[in-house]
Amino acid sequence: MNLDAPLTSLKGIGPRRAELLGKLGLFSVNDLLRFAPRDYLDYSRIVLAAEGVHGQDGAFLLTLSGPPRLAYIPGRRLNVLTVTGKDASGKLTLTWYNQPFRKDQLQAGRQVCACGRMDRSHGARLINPALYPACPGILPVYPLTRGLSQNLLREAVRTALSCALPDLKDPMPPSLLKKHGLLPLQSALPSLHFPAAQAALQQARRRLAFEDILLFRLMLSLLGREQEGMAARPVDGAPAYRAFLRMLPFTPTGAQQRAMADIMQDLASGKAMNRLIQGDVGSGKTAVAFFAMYAVMAAGKQAALMAPTEILARQHYEKLAAILGPERIRLVLGGMKKAQREEAWAALSTGEASLAVGTHALLRDEGMFQSLALVVTDEQHRFGVGQRAAIQSKGQEGLHVLVMSATPIPRTLALLLYGDLQVSRIDELPPGRKPIATRLVPPSKRKDMYNFIQAQAATGQQAYIVCPLVEESEELPGVPGAVQLYQRLHKAYPTLALGLLHGQMPSREKEAVAADFRAGRIRVLVATTVIEVGVDVPAATIMAIEHADRFGLAQLHQLRGRVGRGERDSYCFLLCSPEPGDGAAERLAILCDSQDGFAIAEADLAMRGPGEFLGKRQHGLSEFEAAHLAMDLELLEEAQAAAQDILAHPAPQYRPLLALAKARLASLREDIVGN
Ligand code: ADP
Ligand code: MG
Repeated sequence: MNLDAPLTSLKGIGPRRAELLGKLGLFSVNDLLRFAPRDYLDYSRIVLAAEGVHGQDGAFLLTLSGPPRLAYIPGRRLNVLTVTGKDASGKLTLTWYNQPFRKDQLQAGRQVCACGRMDRSHGARLINPALYPACPGILPVYPLTRGLSQNLLREAVRTALSCALPDLKDPMPPSLLKKHGLLPLQSALPSLHFPAAQAALQQARRRLAFEDILLFRLMLSLLGREQEGMAARPVDGAPAYRAFLRMLPFTPTGAQQRAMADIMQDLASGKAMNRLIQGDVGSGKTAVAFFAMYAVMAAGKQAALMAPTEILARQHYEKLAAILGPERIRLVLGGMKKAQREEAWAALSTGEASLAVGTHALLRDEGMFQSLALVVTDEQHRFGVGQRAAIQSKGQEGLHVLVMSATPIPRTLALLLYGDLQVSRIDELPPGRKPIATRLVPPSKRKDMYNFIQAQAATGQQAYIVCPLVEESEELPGVPGAVQLYQRLHKAYPTLALGLLHGQMPSREKEAVAADFRAGRIRVLVATTVIEVGVDVPAATIMAIEHADRFGLAQLHQLRGRVGRGERDSYCFLLCSPEPGDGAAERLAILCDSQDGFAIAEADLAMRGPGEFLGKRQHGLSEFEAAHLAMDLELLEEAQAAAQDILAHPAPQYRPLLALAKARLASLREDIVGN
């Protein structure tokens, strides 16, 4: 069977089910085969009735005794079906609510394997257990969508496995599998879904993760090679450099100068630049990027700067306009009025404007550039490989690419993510920076902290208070929401110039609040992590983070980087109420002791492992299952090395892998550009 065949070619899947499966991102047989369960129910071991523990799942091998009883409770509109089952150790009651049809399956004397959670609150019971003729082993639990059941998905996967397995071609050659001790695809996929034992599952996951990392790395290298191979008209940046320094309101640090020199060399080389500027929060990457843009503009070409949030894009626009004047710069944001956007694209397509600053809208819009020669992405870790691929397709040949990232990604991950890029490190902070005094604040001191913030605000200082949620929810009791905290503080400190900023606010309102905070009209800004990246208000001196233990260390460091930019003493308060033994206090203490983003990231990685470290934010790994990285660093390194080998010696046996990487890159690009 063709693996790319639509799901409707499988028995039991009609157009309606196929549509539901599509909501889960499953379209082809291959998608289904590689659909990773989100969890497993381990029913591989039979539990005795007498030994089942309250609240735990188990598989019980029982003989049904006596006839089933069906009762109806009219008040609650509830059908209750019960039957007794026995094993050598004792008895259990099996209870189903509103499943009267099961009655016919429960003949006395029948042997069943009943699987479910033991409930001992009224005798020994299993509520709504699943029945199997024999021990079902380890069962997959898939992410679902309304209208699909676990059973349906399990059946669909079983069908797919039995139809497609014989025709499955392993992209990895046997020699590679052998070298790294990996399962062939034909045994890995069945074990991913229906593992015979935990060990088999681990092996299957390892194999699939290895393949994913390998392909990801190959994809990045292909991208880098496409880029490197391209000729670009040489640009002499030296005159632009001298002019730029005169416009810049400060003298660049040595590290900034070195980065600018690297860029000048790239621009003059006659080949397309593919460079990463890595520097800790506040190290001054923006000025370096602005220089690159200015140099390209001075050479009569166009440059675009892409930021992950509208707030950041706007801020870049304003700064750039302050240095170069607004005439030749256009802002392109999703939240802008249509007419405004059209004006911007008109100016960019005729060359009336030379610089574009914006968000993803820059990629998604249909607008064209007249002569785009450079694309800069800020906070690169927020963008995936797909975006990088898409960016490249926006320019003509020989597009220069500059990416900036503050995320101090530990070496191993950096190699994986950025291995194909040239790197300039900004390892020096602008002069006069003072360390940010960082303290853990227990709940008992929260009021004191608010009082301190109010007192500081009264003397002209500014503060951020960051909440993990926009709105409080019943599902997460005790986790503060920005909206509610804003209201509480407004009540408690009626004279305080307080503001609220979160991602769900309309674009215009966000913009107004950010402007008020920059101008000092708002002294204390209650916000969500929308302010995390790049926001630069040098007068802000206090960063308070509610429920800090809900954030990763790298993210906290990034948030903390919003303060400590001026001359005055700065503070970072980490509110947390750690449970003894949960390690949260130890984790947060790392931040109190260090201001070095790199050391913090390494510690975070060591404490939480790569899966957690990458977490939801995915650091450019959006096309990757972060779950795969939850494995271990060794696997990452091993796969990384294998990719390097393949690239250095692309023997014919690796052709299928390389072809697959190429195909994935193309489809990622399509997903983003949308055509
Ligand atoms: P990041 O690397 O985090 O993007 P920014 O580029 O936003 O950092 O710079 C942080 C702050 O430091 C800004 O307010 C910027 O104007 C200022 N800055 C950057 N470079 C210098 C410098 N060489 N001297 C003084 N201030 C600088
Ligand atoms: Mg920045």
